[in-house]
Amino acid sequence: MQSNFKSQCQSCGMPLKNGEESGTENDGSKSSKYCHYCYKDGAFVSPDMTIDDMKKVLDDTVGKDGVKGKVLAWMGKMQLPGLERWRNSKE
Ligand SMILES: [Zn+2]
Repeated sequence: MQSNFKSQCQSCGMPLKNGEESGTENDGSKSSKYCHYCYKDGAFVSPDMTIDDMKKVLDDTVGKDGVKGKVLAWMGKMQLPGLERWRNSKE
C-alpha cells in the first residue's frame, strides 16, 4: 500500500481531510480509519452492508454527477476490495 492511501475511509474510500469527515469512536474521539457516513460511535452505520451494497451506494451518490461522477464512482468501486473493511470479505 502506498502511504497516500492512508487517509481515506477504509469502508467507502472517500478521502479524510483534516479529520472533518472522520467518523467517531464510542468515546467520542475521531476515527482515523472511517468517515462519518460509514462509522459512528464506534460502530458501522450499516453493519450488514456488503461490498456490492457499497458499490451501489457509490453509483447512487457520486455516480449521479454526470460523466465525471461516473468516472469517480468507477474509480471508487475499483479501490473497494483493497480497503480494510472489505479485504477479508468473501464475494
Ligand atoms: Zn466511508
